[in-house]
Amino acid sequence: MGPPGAGKGTLAKRLIAKYHIPHISTGDMFRDAIKAGTELGKTAKDYMARGDLVPDEVTIGIVKERLALDDCSHGYLLDGFPRTLKQAEALKALTESLKRTVNLVINVTADEAELVKRISGRRVCKNCGTPFHVTNMPPKKEGVCDNCGGPLFQRPDDNEAALKVRLSNYYASTKPLLSYYEAMNVLSNVDGMLGTDKVLELASQLIEA
Ligand code: ADP
Ligand code: ZN
Repeated sequence: MGPPGAGKGTLAKRLIAKYHIPHISTGDMFRDAIKAGTELGKTAKDYMARGDLVPDEVTIGIVKERLALDDCSHGYLLDGFPRTLKQAEALKALTESLKRTVNLVINVTADEAELVKRISGRRVCKNCGTPFHVTNMPPKKEGVCDNCGGPLFQRPDDNEAALKVRLSNYYASTKPLLSYYEAMNVLSNVDGMLGTDKVLELASQLIEA
């Protein structure tokens, strides 16, 4: 968990490379659906462009389908889900029905001025979704993904107007989930201002504990 720009996606990509578990990013799933031109993509597109949340029924539906696949039977990493209390409650019911639990919630924190800087300089791979930053985390070759060689682009929702909406949705709908997970005794905070290597190290310690 964490506000847009805190570094969830970057951390998630590194964790799945290290622990070989499926990366379930609702944002990536929606972006893939938009690229493929599916009904799901058509539904999600306008919400995302504005910075709004995609409706809960839709989002819960795709996560439910994804968690039912075989590769999730040994655990998985959720990224960008849950973002509302309704989604958190659905996840609880879902994991219980799969005889699993939510056993660790990593909250990546960062101050707001930094979030704005990160989002405005962010460039993302069109093929694999790996995020870069024009100055903080530049690719080896400008405009090209280090991971797969794909082209880098700026996400349509990484503009000032959409970011405002994303931040206010984060404070209104997602931040309250922190106390929900704190009450379940599964929440740990990682300081997202520390830099990507340190963030990976701290998150790894939490996973291995
Ligand atoms: P970020 O964390 O940088 O905001 P994401 O890639 O996680 O980016 O999400 C991008 C957009 O996708 C969100 O602004 C929202 O429109 C949609 N989205 C992603 N996950 C969810 C979710 N769990 N519930 C509703 N909408 C979502
Ligand atoms: Zn790539």
